Amino acid sequence: MASEQVLKVADYETDVHRDWCPGCGDYGILRAVQTALAEMQLNPSNVAFITGIGCSAKSVHYTKTYGVHTIHGRLLPFATGIKLANPGLDVLCVGGDGDGLGIGAAHFVNAGRRNLDILYIINDNGVYGLTKGQASPTLHLGVKTKSLPAPNINDAINPLWLALASGATWVGRGYAYDVRHLVSLIRQGMEHKGFAFLDVLQPCPSYNNINTKDWYGGEDRRAGNDGKPLPRVYKLDDTGYDPVVRSLEDMNAKITQAITKAVEWGNRIPIGVFYKNAIFPTYEKRIASRIPNYMLVPPTKQPIADPEGRPLTDLTRLLQAFSVN
Ligand code: SF4
Ligand code: MG
Repeated sequence: MASEQVLKVADYETDVHRDWCPGCGDYGILRAVQTALAEMQLNPSNVAFITGIGCSAKSVHYTKTYGVHTIHGRLLPFATGIKLANPGLDVLCVGGDGDGLGIGAAHFVNAGRRNLDILYIINDNGVYGLTKGQASPTLHLGVKTKSLPAPNINDAINPLWLALASGATWVGRGYAYDVRHLVSLIRQGMEHKGFAFLDVLQPCPSYNNINTKDWYGGEDRRAGNDGKPLPRVYKLDDTGYDPVVRSLEDMNAKITQAITKAVEWGNRIPIGVFYKNAIFPTYEKRIASRIPNYMLVPPTKQPIADPEGRPLTDLTRLLQAFSVN
């Protein structure tokens, strides 16, 4: 691709048919991802888009970058390997709440403490949409969506809390129908140097008939200045909230502040950047401090064969170690 070419949103779209249900929040999130890539003018050949399993995971087929549609709950191990093998790539991950906080929860926790320089987005709809709407780990206790025979017997994981507890250095929440705001969050998450986690409230009109577009957008009975009901979803930016950690001494206070905001749910639901810590080194930097040439010659840039195609690695000793003779 010519370096002077200005990339548009359409340059990041494939012509694969999008088979999400009408009104699904995944459309807005996909649009926001592709718009953010265009605004950042990221070279599609340098973007690795990794998805798990679920409705949201189809996003990789609709986006013209490199990508892998992985297996359930395992998108973060894939992304980790890809980023470590080629730290120059822009790595973006998208998965569902069931995928990332159920079967993939251990990977989520360990990605946080590593602080790899990637962005992980969870399209959070409270259900396993692809398999007909079972309760996911983010559905709140006592909520009965239309495909459940009885109210949810489990309490919910708060994804923001888990991200903060795991060591994620950038934590945000967006809303699928506020695409312009979501673009800004995705850009900030990608530009952050470290593990960025973005939870996106994503209505699933087919199976979650409780947390709908109308529910997020209205029904707070308190009236605003103009006498109209306030929308549930509001922006932290509009309240003077400051998520930035400026020193190690400041860190605990900023985590506590983020946790306090992340628990707000019901009549008022904040979106925006909850926490940003640019002080901690990335995992790549920690590796480079032990392997000085790592960033210059990462695994993907190391030759694996001589000009005649003979492998440069001698596996003889390794094979001998496994020999039973
Ligand atoms: Fe979207 Fe829900 Fe349909 Fe899946 S089942 S495509 S999440 S509306
Ligand atoms: Mg889900």
